[in-house]
Amino acid sequence: MADNLSDIVILGGGSGGYAAALRAAELGKSVVLIEKDKVGGTCLHRGCIPTKALLHAGEIADSARESANFGVNATFEGIDMAGVHKYKDGVISKNHKGLVGLIKSRGITIVEGSGTLTGPRTVTVGDESYTGTNLILATGSYSRTLPGLDVDGTRVIASEHALVLDHVPASAIILGGGVIGVEFASAWKSFGSDVTIVEALPHLVPAEDEANSKLLERAFRRRGINYKLGVRFEKVEQTDSGVRVTLEGGETLEAELLLVAVGRGPSSAGLGYEEQGVTIERGFVITDEYLRTSVEGVYAVGDLISINGAPHLQLAHVGFAEGIQVAEHIAGLPVVPIDYAGVPRITYSSPEVASVGLSEVQAAEKFGAEGVKTVNYDLSGNGKSAILNTKGAVKLVAAQDGTVLGVHIVGDRVGELIAEAQLIYNWEALASEVAQLIHPHPTQSEAIGEAHLLLAGKPLHVHD
Ligand SMILES: Cc1cc2nc3c(=O)[nH]c(=O)nc-3n(C[C@H](O)[C@H](O)[C@H](O)COP(=O)(O)OP(=O)(O)OC[C@H]3O[C@@H](n4cnc5c(N)ncnc54)[C@H](O)[C@@H]3O)c2cc1C
Repeated sequence: MADNLSDIVILGGGSGGYAAALRAAELGKSVVLIEKDKVGGTCLHRGCIPTKALLHAGEIADSARESANFGVNATFEGIDMAGVHKYKDGVISKNHKGLVGLIKSRGITIVEGSGTLTGPRTVTVGDESYTGTNLILATGSYSRTLPGLDVDGTRVIASEHALVLDHVPASAIILGGGVIGVEFASAWKSFGSDVTIVEALPHLVPAEDEANSKLLERAFRRRGINYKLGVRFEKVEQTDSGVRVTLEGGETLEAELLLVAVGRGPSSAGLGYEEQGVTIERGFVITDEYLRTSVEGVYAVGDLISINGAPHLQLAHVGFAEGIQVAEHIAGLPVVPIDYAGVPRITYSSPEVASVGLSEVQAAEKFGAEGVKTVNYDLSGNGKSAILNTKGAVKLVAAQDGTVLGVHIVGDRVGELIAEAQLIYNWEALASEVAQLIHPHPTQSEAIGEAHLLLAGKPLHVHD
């Protein structure tokens, strides 16, 4: 068996793994990147990019349906799913080609195949072994299901199946009202499906500030997206035409298919991690804040990890940031561990839900309820949102001295606004400082400015 030596071996070429590879190569390291499928991973091939393409196609369908509201004569004649896939796959393939070119141009060696740890910093792929001075584990995650709930890929499906369906389902039950469930509900409704979400917790997007969840629920109600909250799934049976889902308490729902969107589990089983001494809990690779595992010289990034046992944000941009951080740490550069509260989070449904920083509840836990104040700025006061015919709000959570602790937004296209909110939160800006900044008119970004004017005690377009 041949052994190949390099500075860094990376197992998994998704967001976390390839970002680490690109940054490490920039810093002059020799890098081997091992990938069993396609570089780009879940995000590019089965996650962020394809779902956003479906949602954009849905937005166009909705625009066609609603065109008369804007004085435009157009008719919506239906969805050509083959055409939607052609568009979606075209975007994926363009990005994939670009990424492969980028990786090659940095002199990174890509090894195609499934790797297993066979030494503390050695990965074996077929007959070849690759040993690094450092090793980065970046094997990502898979779609979870519930005990006794079999995903067959046809009637009971996971997100990867939903992305390649060759038709629009007439009806769908979606198990899980988190980001993935809500995004599919939104896209399918736009395509013409009858959709029902089942969520065990009391709200949709339960990780968000409750104000955002409630605005999304109201918007979904208006759109005719059904949801059942605070109720558990009991069982699913196949019927002649699809599935029958029984909920706790005995209520039954029928639909063409059931999408299981109950979260993502870490891909760590059978890869030799524990055998080589890597500490794992509930499948997650445990790291410290510098993303070091329990084995000297071995790091881990992305959906696979739990930092000191805490739940981890499974997002592509988190993977990118962690990959960069690890590459820099290995290269001996000074590294500041990521503040995960400062990571922007977006659900790309219609309307979008975007947030950064602490929710009102989290802020109250940290600073005491009396140490926290909030304001709500309704998008009805925002000209561009009226032009787009979207509803929603900006909620700010702040300390009593005006330091912004959290920004929570709902409305079509507001995902783009969270980049500014991220600067406000991460630079610990005061409401009075942001209130000084001028936002261009008419844009939705003005809603950020107006919310801070309100928080600074000098509201402009706000009714008393
Ligand atoms: C439907 C859906 C929508 C999403 N939308 C968004 C979004 O809009 N924005 C966002 O930020 N995040 C989104 N995500 C999450 C995002 O995709 C993940 O957070 C991100 O892909 C994690 O990157 P990663 O590198 O940790 O893992 P992955 O991207 O899963 O990459 C892991 C890679 O490792 C490879 N691998 C695994 N085992 C081996 C092995 N033994 N040998 C060789 N290779 C191996 C896999 O083939 C894979 O390519 C979405 C996820 C899903 C499922």
